[in-house]
Amino acid sequence: MKLLIASNNAHKIREIKQIFGDLFEEILSLREAGVTADPEETGETFEENARIKAETVLALTGCAALADDSGLAVDALGGAPGVHSARYCGRHGDDDANNALLIQNLSHVPAPRTARFVSAVALARPGRETLIRTGICEGTVGFAPKGHNGFGYDPYFTPLGMDKTFAELPGEVKNGMSHRARALAALRKALEEEK
Ligand code: IMP
Repeated sequence: MKLLIASNNAHKIREIKQIFGDLFEEILSLREAGVTADPEETGETFEENARIKAETVLALTGCAALADDSGLAVDALGGAPGVHSARYCGRHGDDDANNALLIQNLSHVPAPRTARFVSAVALARPGRETLIRTGICEGTVGFAPKGHNGFGYDPYFTPLGMDKTFAELPGEVKNGMSHRARALAALRKALEEEK
């Protein structure tokens, strides 16, 4: 079976191909499949948004589609930026401006600034119920950026039990413990149990 990844985020696509590579004959990003859809994320939860993205791509192409919706939820900010993580500063995907606003909004909060990355993954397939699973990675938000790997809020996020930010850790270490890796592992288990 062919799988389309309902994303053009190179980081997410690499992670998904690594974890799902053996389950599907071919895995393509939207760009590789020539699909230009950009479904609007109108949901109030990560799960709703992942469902919207996956089911929109399935409806457009007839192919199985996998979507991730993810973000950072900070306790001292009542769960913000949450589902608005990609556009926290008002523009979509401006990581530097998103990080600057996050640190400004946390300037009055002492350590430990507890937070978690959340990922919901949805797999939409022709004629079947959409499967949705969620993964969480607990940690803290620091005061200064550290490291150059990864993307988004990685330079400020130290996962629980580690002394390095996601941006300081090698990709394979982050991908072994990330919210997305956990959600994808749960989805993989659900798929295997279906058989
Ligand atoms: P989405 O593409 O609409 O799911 O938005 C995801 C946003 O959440 C990204 O633009 C990042 O700001 C943030 N995010 C999600 N996963 C990660 C991660 O693994 N590291 C850093 N930031 C992330």
